[in-house]
Amino acid sequence: MIMERLQKILAGAGVASRRKCEELILKGKVEVNGETVTTLGTKADPAVDVITVEGKSIGAEKKLYIVFNKPKGVITSASDPQGRKIVTDYLKGVTERLYPVGRLDYDTEGLLLLTNDGDFAHLLTHPKHHVPKTYIAAVKGVPHGTELDKLKKGILLEDGITAPAEVEYQDIDPEGKHSTISITIHEGKNRQVRRMFEAIGHPVTKLKRIAFGELFLGNLKRGLYRHLTKEEIEGLY
Ligand code: URA
Repeated sequence: MIMERLQKILAGAGVASRRKCEELILKGKVEVNGETVTTLGTKADPAVDVITVEGKSIGAEKKLYIVFNKPKGVITSASDPQGRKIVTDYLKGVTERLYPVGRLDYDTEGLLLLTNDGDFAHLLTHPKHHVPKTYIAAVKGVPHGTELDKLKKGILLEDGITAPAEVEYQDIDPEGKHSTISITIHEGKNRQVRRMFEAIGHPVTKLKRIAFGELFLGNLKRGLYRHLTKEEIEGLY
């Protein structure tokens, strides 16, 4: 998210020279998100704010940030040669081309972020950023505390040792046949949560992502989406 002085944004978008853009602002010809701005120091974010001059949008592509509750049985990619359901089938009314921020497996449900802001997507998926992701995993059997400790410390998978994860029991079947565990990981290896539980001998039977960084799925219904608020977007940076 880059806040810049309005006259700089306008000049950068080719509206007029910076001096002329200052005049347009002072004359009350410029609106940001529907509000007339007449103060020269005002800053805006061209990626998020809708900026108009005399009622016309300055033409920068509006950036969209969407949180989607992906159902199980849906592909995260933009197309599927096998004709299975894809995430964008659920984004009726969105004409912009969006890309997912990271992926969820076909069988995993829950929080998936989508955007057309490449910098934002890149930043959040970059391994350096370690954005925490929380999942609720239903697993076979009831792992012992010592088994969960392995996940907390980091466990050796075929592509290396995982970073320490936060793990908590949520629900335990009294007969010991299954349990539900919450797990927060700080990386995004392929099928990581499934492989971590497999490695301790308790395969996942159901997996749902409930949080991505500061953002929670909340009561967003399965198969539905909503746009993030400005605060939510900023909270993810
Ligand atoms: N870990 C998994 O195993 N699957 C996902 O979809 C996400 C994280």
